[in-house]
Amino acid sequence: MGTTVAMAASNQERSFIMVKPEGVQRALVGEVIKRFEQRGFKLVGLKVLVPSKDIANVHYGEHEGKPFFPKLVGHITSGAVVAMVWEGKDIVKTGRAMIGATNPLASAPGTIRGDFAIDLGRNIVHGSDSVDSAQREIALWFSPDELAEYDPTVTPWIYE
Ligand code: GDP
Ligand code: MG
Repeated sequence: MGTTVAMAASNQERSFIMVKPEGVQRALVGEVIKRFEQRGFKLVGLKVLVPSKDIANVHYGEHEGKPFFPKLVGHITSGAVVAMVWEGKDIVKTGRAMIGATNPLASAPGTIRGDFAIDLGRNIVHGSDSVDSAQREIALWFSPDELAEYDPTVTPWIYE
């Protein structure tokens, strides 16, 4: 029996974070995971897969009809991605800040895109843009039994 630590519901916000095919090919999976781990966020789901056209179309549904949409879906389905669910206080907004601006050339150094990317269509990582998007994306990419329930013993050293 482990010690369980009561956690505020606000500390259990979740975001869908995905290393895109270029991030996998460039061996940046560990780098992305490291940054979220070291910040103190909790990994609750992770898998590697080559996305189907169907899942890509739904995932990027908000961009359907835009000129770059076919290229975007073609690219995201072109190779393996690492799909993840991360949990923690304000993870959606903070995750976006850690990832950086959509255009890597406008991303601040210190962000993932600002440190590792140049082109818009090769910006390494996806992160949910709102709590609603996160819930939709997590449900799209993961079944409930693929998300682990556990209490990291480090929690009281991260949250006061
Ligand atoms: P994100 O939420 O920061 O990833 O950005 P968006 O949701 O606006 O766009 C989704 C992804 O489509 C981005 O991460 C880019 O890889 C790509 N993308 C967005 N806008 C453009 C564009 O104008 N041209 C191209 N080629 N790709 C784009
Ligand atoms: Mg987006």
